[in-house]
Amino acid sequence: MSLWISPAAWIEANQSIKHLIRSHNAGLETAKNIAENIQEKLILLFPFLEDLCSLTCPWCPDHCCSHAKVWIDFRDMIFLHLRSIQVPPYQLIDDMKKNCRYLGSKGCTLDREMRPWICTLYLCPTQMNIARKQGSNRHEFLIRIIEEIKTERKKMEDEFIKITS
Ligand code: SF4
Ligand code: SF4
Repeated sequence: MSLWISPAAWIEANQSIKHLIRSHNAGLETAKNIAENIQEKLILLFPFLEDLCSLTCPWCPDHCCSHAKVWIDFRDMIFLHLRSIQVPPYQLIDDMKKNCRYLGSKGCTLDREMRPWICTLYLCPTQMNIARKQGSNRHEFLIRIIEEIKTERKKMEDEFIKITS
């Protein structure tokens, strides 16, 4: 598995994906539609996550991002390119011993759409408890939409590989 942690590898990976999309533009219509569906679902999900974060993260004694080892993976990268969303200038980490370079003093400095799915997906135990207490409709919505995005990300990747390989 490549993490593209060096700046050169990051640039090369992004250029390769851009090139693949340009060369297979017409054939990638289905992958682009799936990516659009994912983006629409993320837009529905983000307000719930913002709400949970505002209730928990400012008082957190042990910020998860300060010890997470996470990175933008292939699915994240093709999603960003298929939707023409700005790609972060560097991979999240440049050394497995270091933490995410995008963690600022007030939390994540990346727009939500630019973050890897693993960052969006992660609800810590405190947040899960709050989501449960906010009512079954809200909790079920969160679980359902997360499952739908997971499934669509896999479909998007399969379709991308089928067309470009
Ligand atoms: S998601 Fe949970 S663990 Fe992470 S910073 Fe927020 S409250 Fe803390
Ligand atoms: S990208 Fe943002 S949310 Fe993800 S680990 Fe880095 S600081 Fe945290």
